[in-house]
Amino acid sequence: MDPVASSYDCLIVGAGPGGLQAAIYLCRYGRDVLIVDRGGGRTRHARRIENFMTHSMISGQDLIEKGLAQAARFGARTEKKTVTSIERSGHEGPFGFLARTAGGGLYKSRSVIVSSGAQDILPRIENLARYFAWSFFTCVDCDGYRTRGKKTAILGDSESTLRLALAVKQMYTKDVAVVLDGYTPPPGYMEEMQQEGIEIIYDSPAVLHGDDTLRSMELKSGRRILCDAVLSNYGYKLNDSFLGGLGLKKDPAGKYQTNRHFESSLPGLYIVGHLAGSDQAIIAAGEGAMAAMDLNKRLIEMHSE
Ligand SMILES: Cc1cc2nc3c(=O)[nH]c(=O)nc-3n(C[C@H](O)[C@H](O)[C@H](O)COP(=O)(O)OP(=O)(O)OC[C@H]3O[C@@H](n4cnc5c(N)ncnc54)[C@H](O)[C@@H]3O)c2cc1C
Repeated sequence: MDPVASSYDCLIVGAGPGGLQAAIYLCRYGRDVLIVDRGGGRTRHARRIENFMTHSMISGQDLIEKGLAQAARFGARTEKKTVTSIERSGHEGPFGFLARTAGGGLYKSRSVIVSSGAQDILPRIENLARYFAWSFFTCVDCDGYRTRGKKTAILGDSESTLRLALAVKQMYTKDVAVVLDGYTPPPGYMEEMQQEGIEIIYDSPAVLHGDDTLRSMELKSGRRILCDAVLSNYGYKLNDSFLGGLGLKKDPAGKYQTNRHFESSLPGLYIVGHLAGSDQAIIAAGEGAMAAMDLNKRLIEMHSE
């Protein structure tokens, strides 16, 4: 068997808001915590977070760096690695896990908190990086507010794209067009969109045009639509391949089942943030705190048994 690097009370996968908040709580309970994070992540891509109380404006990068420093101050260790698998080892009664990382790392831990998030599924568009998170957005709760009064194009490939367009029209701007990429909606929707004055275009996005400011989007057909904001709605891909061998229960929508303390169907393994269904930094942080408090209680109980 490979040598085990070290043994921890809790191994946390992912240094996003969920994982970092859990680490801060657990370390303050005196637990040995290792955070394993591969870098990147959705929060780091958020250029302007304005809905996290106490921060009138903070970049995702700053939020994470501050969280890492705070967790380290209470004793959390962090390693920049990719977790490739987690197995039950049963070395702690009902708890006990082994985590493997790319490059051959092996870690033993009494418990695991997974906060590995998700990746946006993005269409292939030229110049996307230039406008991403400035005028090209992927989350209405995060950035819908930035479409206020703007010519907004909504991109996507499902019924939820149409629902998003109706919501944006109601909340933020009268000037909404939808580019439906390979999806034909049921007839009822077309009437509703017409009544709301929302144009539906059956096409795929190709190029974003502008200077510092987004001005228009070229479609595969060659048509150009004027827009100064884009909301993209192609969904997410969960960062969960390393959980594959555990047989964790999911609900029909693909969300991992947890109890109200975010413990998964496997005792000792908690799941917070995107994998548990929420896609807001402050919610992931709250879930991390709840998971850590419950886990700590369980560790106290196990010690006194
Ligand atoms: C452009 C943009 C703007 C946003 N704006 C806002 C906003 O204004 N307000 C708001 O509340 N939310 C915002 N969000 C959403 C917010 O970032 C997410 O809700 C939040 O990131 C969820 O936290 P998390 O801890 O689940 O995941 P993340 O922050 O995504 O962190 C997951 C971490 O796990 C790591 N990881 C993944 N797989 C592995 C692995 N196998 N091994 C090791 N590490 C791994 C990732 O690299 C990453 O560092 C925004 C997101 C984006 C993309």
